[in-house]
Amino acid sequence: MDNIEVFDSPGKGRGLRATKELLSGDVLFSEPPFAAVVFDSLADKICHSCFRRQDKLQRCGQCKFAQYCDKTCQSAGWKEHKLECGAIKAFGAIGDNFGKAPNENIRLAARIMWRLDKEGGVMSDMQMTSLDDLENHISDMPEDDLKELKVDIHNFLDYWPRNSKQHRVDDISHIFGVINCNGFTVSDQRGLNAVGVGLFPNLCLVNHDCWPNCTVILNHGNQSAVNTVYHSQMRIELRALGKIEPGEEVTVSYVDFLNVTEDRQRQLKMHYFFDCTCEHCKGHIKDDLKMGGKVVDGVKVPEEQVKEVTEYSLQMLQKMDKARLEGNYHEVIKICRECMEKQEPVLADTHIYQLRMWSTASEVLAYLQFIDEAADYARKMVDGYNKLYHPCNAHLGMATMRAGVTHWQAGKIEVGHGMICKAYAILQRTHGPTHPITKDLEAMRMQTEMELRMFRENEYIYKSMREAALKNQPMSMMNEPMAESVKNLFRRQKK
Ligand SMILES: [Zn+2]
Ligand SMILES: [Zn+2]
Ligand SMILES: [Zn+2]
Repeated sequence: MDNIEVFDSPGKGRGLRATKELLSGDVLFSEPPFAAVVFDSLADKICHSCFRRQDKLQRCGQCKFAQYCDKTCQSAGWKEHKLECGAIKAFGAIGDNFGKAPNENIRLAARIMWRLDKEGGVMSDMQMTSLDDLENHISDMPEDDLKELKVDIHNFLDYWPRNSKQHRVDDISHIFGVINCNGFTVSDQRGLNAVGVGLFPNLCLVNHDCWPNCTVILNHGNQSAVNTVYHSQMRIELRALGKIEPGEEVTVSYVDFLNVTEDRQRQLKMHYFFDCTCEHCKGHIKDDLKMGGKVVDGVKVPEEQVKEVTEYSLQMLQKMDKARLEGNYHEVIKICRECMEKQEPVLADTHIYQLRMWSTASEVLAYLQFIDEAADYARKMVDGYNKLYHPCNAHLGMATMRAGVTHWQAGKIEVGHGMICKAYAILQRTHGPTHPITKDLEAMRMQTEMELRMFRENEYIYKSMREAALKNQPMSMMNEPMAESVKNLFRRQKK
């Protein structure tokens, strides 16, 4: 880790800063999780060793809780599961917990403890920090969170085996506090869905900025190569979004920039317990675009009207989210259409409530196979995002990819190819060239480039070829639009 060093960041406590000049796409550091677990809700859908989603998993014969792709994953995960296996079995054998496994927080806390005990209390492969130095923010926790913490500690003590080393309650609650504010979302291999939570100690040192100079991405590595020399471990990578000068603090954003300053600050205070004073917060930068009204022939729509439609949109968004969670997609589209009709003449094309409607409308319409209409909304969404996001933002890259695929599917090959190229350029930096999504994009870029050439030569041949190509797409974008994309890096979210 010769790119960065720990320093005292004014007003923020410890932070990391660059020790030499870094360029867009550079990896500042990468690290495997110190410990990680699969979410309770996905315990039988995700491999507990490699965190990949699989249709058929094999259950651990002992605890009947952990599940794996195959024997290879099971033996790779045994080191971490060995002590856990017996403890889960014992936990679920009696009393109130009969047949149950402890929750994800408890399982993660125990994995951290076992590993610390084994390594003599230090995090051995960590150069920059120790667990004791990480903040737990227990004194900042609201009443309800403290109650939950007490329940977790109580269950932890039930779960922790008598023959493992015993710890003080203070040390146990410190670990829960650290997980609470530093637990990092582990996503599936494509990075589209959150599947678990892990602790990445060095990442905990990276402070927040609403307009950061770095981004963090989970790379599952490569376990499929025949030659094990080419196998690589699951790890996070901290990547530069632009040029960083030596001495400059490196930052990531804990929240989505597609929120106004007030909302970002509220989220940061509630989940991470600090008041953001970054330049974008101080200057309320781009808030006017995100809440703005339309300008028609040089005349602004009256503020009163903008406010009215903004409030109406908020109600409709809540209704829409509900219908979406219920899987009632025709209802979702009905709500979107009703709302967009009111928004269109009044709100700016960067108004975030309008962007959310366009985003959902395009996603759900694509799922329902109304591809042309889906492409139109996807384009409006990306145009808006381009005016709001940093040009190298990972969400922007993913949204551009989605819009590009939709255009491609709609037969709008020129726009589609352009968007796919743009998304590829962004993801090469934010995700890196070996990430599965970047590789998908590379394949799509080549495919659409070929199709574009063909289209220009002979439109008829192109059209018949496209039909065939669509039958074996390189990636499915037709997943049910139920699952929210991973927008929050850290897991600290109310359940
Ligand atoms: Zn696996
Ligand atoms: Zn087991
Ligand atoms: Zn800020």
